[in-house]
Parts: sequence; C-alpha cells; structure tokens
Amino acid sequence: MKKIVIAIDGYSSCGKSTMAKQLATALNYVFIDSGAMYRAITLYFLNNNIDIKNDTAVSNALNNIHLKFVYNEAEGKSDILLNNENVETAIREMKVSEYVSTVAAIEAVRIFAVAQQQQMGIAKGIVMDGRDIGTTVFPNAELKIFVTADVDTRVQRRLTELHNKGNMNISFAEVKQNLISRDHIDSTRTISPLRQAADALLLDNTHLTREEQLNIILNWVKERSGNY
Ligand code: C5P
Repeated sequence: MKKIVIAIDGYSSCGKSTMAKQLATALNYVFIDSGAMYRAITLYFLNNNIDIKNDTAVSNALNNIHLKFVYNEAEGKSDILLNNENVETAIREMKVSEYVSTVAAIEAVRIFAVAQQQQMGIAKGIVMDGRDIGTTVFPNAELKIFVTADVDTRVQRRLTELHNKGNMNISFAEVKQNLISRDHIDSTRTISPLRQAADALLLDNTHLTREEQLNIILNWVKERSGNY
C-alpha cells in the first residue's frame, strides 16, 4: 500500500479540516491543520504585544515559539501546543481570527511555519490542509484538492461550529465579514497567496454531504495511490 501526500487548500471555512480529518481517519494517515500553526503564532504575537512592523521583534518572537501537535483521542485529531500549552480553544477565538491573516502574510512567519510543515511530510501518509499546501509546502504532493463552497454556506457552517462551542455572541454578519476579509488578504498577499495549484482537483462542496464528499475523495486517492 503506497502512502501518498494529500494537500487540501481552499477558502476559509470550506470544511477543509473536517474533510482532512475524515480522510486521515479512513486512510490511517496523519492529519495536520496548518492553519492552527498560523493561529498559534498569532495568539503568541497578541499575548506578547509583538509589533509586526518591527522585523527584529518578529524574528525574536519566532525564536521563542515552539509548536507541537499532540493526538487528542476523544477528538480523533491532534491539538496544537504553543510552548507546551494546549491552545486549541484559544486559537479559535474571534480576536485571533481577525488578526491571523495579517500575521500569516509576514515572510518570516511563513518561512518558520513552512519549514516545519515540510518536515512533517517527509514520511508521507499525511493529509495537510491550508492555503498554500499544494502550491508551496508540498508542490509534489500526489493528490491536491482545492475546495470551495458558496460564501453563505461557509458562514452558516462556521457560525454553527462557533455556537456549538458555546460562542453565542457572534452574528452571521460578523462571521461573513471575517471570512471575506481573510479570503481577500490570503489571496492577495505577495508570498504564497491562496491559489488553486495547476494540478489540483476542484471540489465544490456546497451541496455535498460529508459522506458524498469523502467518497469522491477516496476515489481520487485510489487513482493516485493505486490502493488505500
Ligand atoms: O485554516 P484556518 O482558517 O484556521 O487558517 C487561519 C488563517 O491562517 C488563514 O485565514 C490564513 O490567513 C492562514 N493560513 C495560511 N496558510 C496556511 C494555512 C492558514 O496563510 N497554509
């Protein structure tokens, strides 16, 4: 059974992480949510008042950041540790969502994160989701998927997720504004902008159930790896 690298990219709140997690479970692969790394870096910057216009402050801060993923049995996925502290909940808060795309556009931040992501893929058997996985992190991935969905569908999914986590004070309009703004910053930044790689397969999941989506992707995996 040949293990491959699966890169999943796309707009904010398209269900990339849910899809990647389901796929990794079905294939017994490692799943890495690369967005969690940018969110954890952003949380550190916010908590330590790092001036992102000051290159030395940014580079010193990155030297003090240690990121690690640990498997969470109950969730069936890994949680991210920032300097040994589990920040999985804190990184999903609105203040991080509002700032993360600005931090993720900084060259030093991307160099820091991408180097670690590439290390994680060396042994293959990995599903990683993000914005630049097929274009920059794993340009040679055997399977690249670019996910999209109607914007209001994405907002509703994100809102339901936030409400399920007890975050009841956020409105549809606030979430929509955040998604549109992040998509804009992510697709227009100079370094590794969000783009569909030329060899990525497009998946619009607006009208797909999770099961339908998983079946489509498992067929693609079969084609690319000969087996699974
Ligand atoms: O995936 P998630 O929405 O949690 O990612 C948060 C943010 O991190 C994105 O809006 C984007 O700015 C940044 N990101 C990135 N490159 C990745 C993954 C995430 O720039 N590979």
